[in-house]
Amino acid sequence: MGLEQYKGDMEMCCRCSACKFIPMQRVNGLQYANVCPSVSKYNFHSYSGGGRLNIGAAMLKEGFNYTDRLLDIVYNCQMCGACGVSCNYAMDMEVMEPINEFRIKCVEDGKTRPALDKVITGLRKHGSMVPATGKRGDWASGLNLKDATKEKVDVLYHVGCLTSYDKNMQKLAKATAKILQKAGVDFGIAGDAETCCGGRAYQMGYKEDFLSQAKKNMAMIKEAGVKTVVTACADGYQAFKVLYDKFNLKGGLEVLHISEYIDKLIRDGRLKPRKKVDLSVTYHDPCRLGRLGEPWIHWQGKKIPGDRFVFDPPKVYRRGTHGVYQPPRDVLKSIPGVRLTEMTRIKEYSWCCGTGGGVNESNPGFAQWTARERIEEAESTGAEAMVTACPWCEKTFNEAISETGSSLKVYDIVELVETAIS
Ligand code: SF4
Ligand code: SF4
Repeated sequence: MGLEQYKGDMEMCCRCSACKFIPMQRVNGLQYANVCPSVSKYNFHSYSGGGRLNIGAAMLKEGFNYTDRLLDIVYNCQMCGACGVSCNYAMDMEVMEPINEFRIKCVEDGKTRPALDKVITGLRKHGSMVPATGKRGDWASGLNLKDATKEKVDVLYHVGCLTSYDKNMQKLAKATAKILQKAGVDFGIAGDAETCCGGRAYQMGYKEDFLSQAKKNMAMIKEAGVKTVVTACADGYQAFKVLYDKFNLKGGLEVLHISEYIDKLIRDGRLKPRKKVDLSVTYHDPCRLGRLGEPWIHWQGKKIPGDRFVFDPPKVYRRGTHGVYQPPRDVLKSIPGVRLTEMTRIKEYSWCCGTGGGVNESNPGFAQWTARERIEEAESTGAEAMVTACPWCEKTFNEAISETGSSLKVYDIVELVETAIS
């Protein structure tokens, strides 16, 4: 079915442009009212969520004519989901699903970007979305962690590509392991048996590669008898929790982001952040932990014949409100000395860090531009630091900061918790 199944949704777009902004009652001024990085940067309707639907509808009707400009529009989108959430504030129609399907069709038709093809070639060879130097589990050397493929464990910590291989990001894997050890969690890692979750391949439109990765991971998990997976990466969280479920691959697996798990461990009295961390912070909601981390809804029904877009039974839409928002905030509030001030665009209306949808790889300048927008918003709160809950966000923000010379510090939530329990 692909894009065709969303023909009615795409035709329903009334070009109101609500998908470009946060809802009116949340707007504090012209600054930070935008929610779509793509249309904000390129300033042309076709680059918005609605514009993408208009193009998709036209192409279904008139045939697919791939021009350079069309592909520029398709690939300069972080697939961040903000347009869908803003549209669905008032409208009952799918926005992100047809945008995803459009990207998938481009890849199926061979209309790709060389930078993305290169990343996917690496994925097929090494099971990683980042260059794989050494072994996947090398970061854990000397930490005496259990191998979940050889020993029975309660929890599998899925580390993820960036945190496993990037020397600057391995600190997050070590912090996560230390937190779980301190709380006495019976956990393990899969080491070299771990492979990429496939989530970022899906965002880029490489659906078959995503499915291949998902099946490999679930086979390993089944073999190991694991019932709970914890990840500290928002992409990994969305892949395991939402996408594996969407494609009926997840089964009964429990999937938790580390911020949810830490929150639970603190509430259960197993983790006590006692050490003072004297820091004013603001919190950045990663797209794939927040609005795109909302559970999948397995709705089945049919359209009632006629012009109106009505279904039997009524269709239930994912509106981004059931993402992981409160646990990271509660964790921050539980750390003595941490003072949280919120930005304007938060929770389901969070501004993307810039790295999703392959933009980081195919147009790093746009990724950096998007990150700089968020850094400026974080600075406007007066906070000393921005805390996030995804290694990709931290990496992108720090790269942007190194260019702007901003004094804002960026931390992952596990870094602050690690300090507070030391
Ligand atoms: S996608 Fe939704 S919000 Fe955007 S223009 Fe179309 S109807 Fe309006
Ligand atoms: S997914 Fe994000 S970047 Fe793409 S059109 Fe929607 S809001 Fe804009």
